[in-house]
Amino acid sequence: MDNFVTFCRNVFVPVTNVCRNNCGYCTFRRDPEDSQAKLMKREEITPILEQGKKAGCTEVLFTFGEYAEEVPQYKEWLTEIGYSNTIDYICELCKIAIDIGLLPHTNAGVLNYTEMEELKPLNASMGLMLETTANLAAHEGSPGKVPSTRIKTIRYAGDLQIPFTTGLLIGIGENLDDRINSLLSIADLHEEYGHIQEVIIQNFTPKPDTLMADMPSPTEEEMMQTILIAREILPDDIAIQVAPNLIDPYLLIQCGANDLGGVSPTTIDWINPEKEWPSVSGLKEMVREMTLKERLPIYPQYIKKGWYSDTLKNLIDSLADEDGYRK
Ligand code: SF4
Repeated sequence: MDNFVTFCRNVFVPVTNVCRNNCGYCTFRRDPEDSQAKLMKREEITPILEQGKKAGCTEVLFTFGEYAEEVPQYKEWLTEIGYSNTIDYICELCKIAIDIGLLPHTNAGVLNYTEMEELKPLNASMGLMLETTANLAAHEGSPGKVPSTRIKTIRYAGDLQIPFTTGLLIGIGENLDDRINSLLSIADLHEEYGHIQEVIIQNFTPKPDTLMADMPSPTEEEMMQTILIAREILPDDIAIQVAPNLIDPYLLIQCGANDLGGVSPTTIDWINPEKEWPSVSGLKEMVREMTLKERLPIYPQYIKKGWYSDTLKNLIDSLADEDGYRK
């Protein structure tokens, strides 16, 4: 493995927090009647993108609740802003981001093949956490969290040659065998399609007022063990990512983690709003003797393989150095 740790400078845009699922640990999701429920408008999003570009970001992470269209009030909101479906709106947002000079990375939950196909030319990479291959109480009432459904979306991404981010959520009721099975499933998908650029090993953090508020976070030992196993199971070309705002990454890096994910100088972590991103100098301190290297939302090997559209070519060329990292 290389003797450096990577990260990406990004802008985090939570386009909607309306979601058909109801995960036991989530504080992001809102019912449409909740005063904090939202569908962000283009006029609201554009200045956030411009500010991120000015701050040196290369990626915009667009996140969504899953298939919000299954919630009637959301459909009305979408119609009011001039769109008949979410995918058309995502495509529009991606085009705005590309014009501003940011590479889109969309995570909109499970999607079908046609939806992924529409998004591919406008995204440098896409993502969907597998979370686990186990059927857990945490996911009761969440049709999109059926493991086979998520694997299908990851498979579509492979078939479409979309550089892809997935990962495990650790500590939501799964056991060690479940973690191993989840990693083996990801390794199998990568063996078939070669499209998994990074696997996030994310520690569950309990939040007040959720069903899982009293569940403990995984211990540091469990996280270290999972990363050692992940490094054993996953091919070397897949980066292992940990979230530096959720856990001190240093010991996990010793176990094989080599990426710190997207860190934003201008926006908060909307999924874990109570956990502040470290600054880039903070990241440097965290990795101590290791070198910190900035990457784009598309990893160097996929730039070399040309797994991006003509629409993104000029922007990628302008942002990447000759090795495929940030210029
Ligand atoms: S799918 Fe995501 S946004 Fe929806 S309830 Fe689950 S964790 Fe929350």
